[in-house]
Amino acid sequence: MKTMELAEKLAATRELSDEELRQILETDEFDQTLFNLADKRRREVYWDEVYVRGLIEFTNFCRNNCYYCGIRRDNRNAERYRLSREEILDCCEEGYRLGFRTFVLQGGEDPYYTDSLICDIVSEIRARFPDCAITLSIGEKSRDSYQAFFDAGANRYLLRHETADELHYAKLHPDSMSLANRKRCLFDLKDIGFQVGSGFMVGSPYQTTDNIVADIRFLQELQPHMIGIGPYITHADTPFSNFESGSMTLTLRLIAILRLMFPYALIPSTTALGTIHPQGRELGLKAGANVVMPNLSPVGVRKLYALYENKICTGEEAAQCRGCLERRVLSAGYRIVTAVGNAKTETES
Ligand code: SAH
Repeated sequence: MKTMELAEKLAATRELSDEELRQILETDEFDQTLFNLADKRRREVYWDEVYVRGLIEFTNFCRNNCYYCGIRRDNRNAERYRLSREEILDCCEEGYRLGFRTFVLQGGEDPYYTDSLICDIVSEIRARFPDCAITLSIGEKSRDSYQAFFDAGANRYLLRHETADELHYAKLHPDSMSLANRKRCLFDLKDIGFQVGSGFMVGSPYQTTDNIVADIRFLQELQPHMIGIGPYITHADTPFSNFESGSMTLTLRLIAILRLMFPYALIPSTTALGTIHPQGRELGLKAGANVVMPNLSPVGVRKLYALYENKICTGEEAAQCRGCLERRVLSAGYRIVTAVGNAKTETES
């Protein structure tokens, strides 16, 4: 089948065989058709709405040692920071004033924040902002911990699976981590009742087209509410310093494929996409993404949450993230909405 027909088949049936997926992933010939179909589908489900999530990067301490990540435990060059409970709450106050109705608390896996401290922070945010969604992105925990976070008032959780292939997973992570546990976490989170986000890096070291097909199949199995993908970007202070960053084109192509397969998903146009190209996030929206995540962290620590190099929105201008993104969203032909923006699902819509 010709790739153009493949794009149309995907739009009509939301499914392709492994071989067809490999084909569509490996050519840029018909990207424009894919982007147009994805944008059309996104407008059918979500109109021109783009949801904003205020991202609070509250610690860059991490007990893990993922080979790709700039805040890995063994990176002695990383200057570490933690935000106090009060500083986190101040970020939320500021965010609420700016119109944010979702707060995303993301960090390394930092044992300083015990379950009871996380629950205390979450329940305080829940009490002060009953009309907001609280999203956690703090890595792998036990089912009991996740349940406690949920009971404290958190309602969403972001945990990318990173890669759905065992061998590839082992190339990106030390032996102390496993794909099986990552998946266990994701299914526990879903079972508890969280809206769950998963995803992977595009162009991570050793990634093959078959790995990406496996990632798509895993997402079909998990059926997450949110799907976060962004290009892998090299960080000099990691074992992967000699690898090239992932490609914007492949990331955009995947956003479009995911929009067509998961019409109801919330798909962010990520900071990493904006980092590898000045118009990356606008192009991501045009390829089917419908979420942006401006940084709400205190300006002083933004540079320190360096998962990868040259991350945008970390300078003094960063306090204006909200306005800058709003203009970018408008210039791409969409509209920021401040609603909580729950994922629609086919049964709920
Ligand atoms: N500790 C949390 C948050 C991790 S940071 C967790 O485990 O979920 C959020 C995401 O950044 C990661 O899931 C990973 O996909 C991405 N990331 C890490 N290093 C990166 C790099 N070098 N380039 C691009 N994305 C990266």
